[in-house]
Amino acid sequence: MELTADLHVHTKYSDGHCTVDEQAARAKELGLKTIALTEHGYSHLIFGLKRKEKERYTREIEEAEQKYGVKILVGVEENILGRQGTSELSERDYAEFDLFLAGFHVMSAHETWRDWRNGWKGYLGYNLGLHLKGRLVKDMTQAYVNTVKKNPVDLITHINFQCFADSLEVAKCCADYGTYVEISGKKTHFTDDELSDIVQKTSARFLVNSDAHAPERLGDIALAEEQIARVGVPLDRIDNVDGRMPVLRLAEYKKRHL
Ligand SMILES: [Zn+2]
Ligand SMILES: [Zn+2]
Repeated sequence: MELTADLHVHTKYSDGHCTVDEQAARAKELGLKTIALTEHGYSHLIFGLKRKEKERYTREIEEAEQKYGVKILVGVEENILGRQGTSELSERDYAEFDLFLAGFHVMSAHETWRDWRNGWKGYLGYNLGLHLKGRLVKDMTQAYVNTVKKNPVDLITHINFQCFADSLEVAKCCADYGTYVEISGKKTHFTDDELSDIVQKTSARFLVNSDAHAPERLGDIALAEEQIARVGVPLDRIDNVDGRMPVLRLAEYKKRHL
């Protein structure tokens, strides 16, 4: 399995440990023709991309593309804000991005007090190794599902990282709306049984990414590859490997509406 494009990568513009130039240089070194820089979205209270820095971010990406001959998509990994599926991005923002990822991150400006509390419960439960059930799972599943339904999200990142949702329900919704499900190379977020269920019971399609926060990890999908082999995910369900590139929902949306 060969990665065509690493579509989930961070730099110092959010919580990465390197510059745009360093990630681009590494992509060239690896022979990766396309990457996407996908900083945490504006509503993250600690390390979200700053609106006032967006222009510089885009300019640096354009410069790095020229310098290294690597295609770099201007992406964002927005923060899922709550059960209503409210996006932190407006249509005006859509015009400024090529790729729209969404994931759960604690310390975002959540919709309501209940969503805020759910975020912390998920974070603490995950880090204490608990398996939380009940209303929390219902709420978080609803937040994922409504985010996918209401917004042209290209990819849902690391389902169940620091949160607890019904991954099968989320994947079903992703399949219905043309949003990809991520198999992460950073950490194994699905159990093998969960991933197997998604493969067998839904028509969801996948992207594999590094979620690299430093150049050393760019293009590193080893953990995902191991799980894909264990579970037997058909490689033709993964759209950013072996020369394939994904059909992006945001791009389609922009063609029709902007
Ligand atoms: Zn994330
Ligand atoms: Zn990320």
